[in-house]
Amino acid sequence: MRAIVLATQNQKKGRELTELARGRFLVRTLAEVGLADLDIDENGATFADNARIKARAARAALPPGVAKETAWVLADDSGLVVDALDGKPGVRSARFAADHGTGAGDEANNDLLLLLLGPVPDERRTARFACAVCAVAVEGGDVREAFGTVEGHIARDRAGSGGFGYDPLFIPVAHAPRRMAELSADQKHAISHRGQAMRAVLDALDAPPQRFVFARARPAGR
Ligand code: IMP
Repeated sequence: MRAIVLATQNQKKGRELTELARGRFLVRTLAEVGLADLDIDENGATFADNARIKARAARAALPPGVAKETAWVLADDSGLVVDALDGKPGVRSARFAADHGTGAGDEANNDLLLLLLGPVPDERRTARFACAVCAVAVEGGDVREAFGTVEGHIARDRAGSGGFGYDPLFIPVAHAPRRMAELSADQKHAISHRGQAMRAVLDALDAPPQRFVFARARPAGR
């Protein structure tokens, strides 16, 4: 089985990425390859930019022994896009409250989101999670990328204890009125932005390299 390294320092995200790749690849996190302290400056303007920055930086930092036995380095960049906030917090999702000087971490981020959306009526509380995944081949630097989104609404209070980040406030369309944090891990993976992007990238790693991907016409509305 080929080995991949997941370039994330976020333990809960790392667990989800590991669950999504397990069985198809031998998965190791940065901490497991001696890079627990690797600090990557995520200064890209888009999710895709940041995923690429993280994957490339982690590939460059792999200890030689690890590089020899690893096929791909994968990184994701993800976040919440809220329509009533003109797409914020977006790429700043992890640092939303810190950027506003109202604290740090998931709890503070959720408090700030509830505060800013307080006056926004239910029908305008639409949002989506987005995730870009980038895989870089350790040998040669070949790149495969994918993007996933999941549509939903922002609730007026928290519920559930699963997942992480904004999951207690996010009502995915497919499971309304339940929150993402009330779903099992398998239910979340089946619909999530990260699940979709990871499945697409992992399929691309299994397939031979393709220079062109042909889009097939689909019936209207699908
Ligand atoms: P990143 O580590 O820079 O990609 O930041 C991701 C941030 O986006 C997390 O810290 C969360 O705030 C948010 N986020 C991304 N994916 C999810 C998810 O699946 N559920 C809840 N929040 C998420």
